[in-house]
Amino acid sequence: MPDLLNDNAVTRDFFARSIEEQNDFLSQTWCNHCMEVDLGMTNPKEFESKDGVWIEGNCVKCGQVTITEIVEEDE
Ligand SMILES: [Zn+2]
Repeated sequence: MPDLLNDNAVTRDFFARSIEEQNDFLSQTWCNHCMEVDLGMTNPKEFESKDGVWIEGNCVKCGQVTITEIVEEDE
């Protein structure tokens, strides 16, 4: 598991993504607190580091931080 909260992360613009992608990422979540998938997240923030790209937000159900790793597909 990569260290997602390292200091070298840079912020990316989540809202530069298409609406379809935004909706997918906001609905397809895993909450470590609720132990449930697809509860959804609010307040998304996107980050990038050498380990990859991920979105941090708050679980719609419990409000805890939830993280979605993004797998970017190379052409
Ligand atoms: Zn939750």
